[in-house]
Amino acid sequence: MENQLTCNQVIALMSFYVEDKLNSRLKEYVDDHLRNCPKCREVYMQSKKIVNHIMSLGNTDNEQTPYHTKQYEDFRHNLSAYIDNELDENESIRIKKIAISNPLARKDLEDMYSFKKLLHDSFEKTRTESKYDYSKLIINKLDSKTNSNEAEAFNRLLVAFTVLISVIVFGFLATLYF
Ligand SMILES: [Zn+2]
Repeated sequence: MENQLTCNQVIALMSFYVEDKLNSRLKEYVDDHLRNCPKCREVYMQSKKIVNHIMSLGNTDNEQTPYHTKQYEDFRHNLSAYIDNELDENESIRIKKIAISNPLARKDLEDMYSFKKLLHDSFEKTRTESKYDYSKLIINKLDSKTNSNEAEAFNRLLVAFTVLISVIVFGFLATLYF
């Protein structure tokens, strides 16, 4: 099982996983991890609940309320991009204004932030574990000097992967504190 993810890596990928945005290989790694890790499975269940709640708001119940406007549809359509800082400044301001004036939109935004916070808190909890993983990585790297080229290539891949995950995690943290 050379492709096992750590808890931190799984938490970092969780929002993409819940929104089904991972490629199939990465999704399989997360599936694997969740099968074997009750702690991350718990985070997944909570994440799923929040995301389902956000998704369901746009459907039946609220269609009767006066707040379910075309503007609100537009807000929902852009919510995920807004949270991920993918909108340009004007679009971003437009979404912010809708959230201020429309209670439905505001609720969606709060849910989205509690989702982010859940992932952030889970990440904090596993920080010591990440240190451990890092030192393990170094030891692996040292070991590989005496091992075959194959092991070295794998470690290099592992380092590249860890860097990628770190970028994702810090992107996450950055959006939390914007
Ligand atoms: Zn885990």
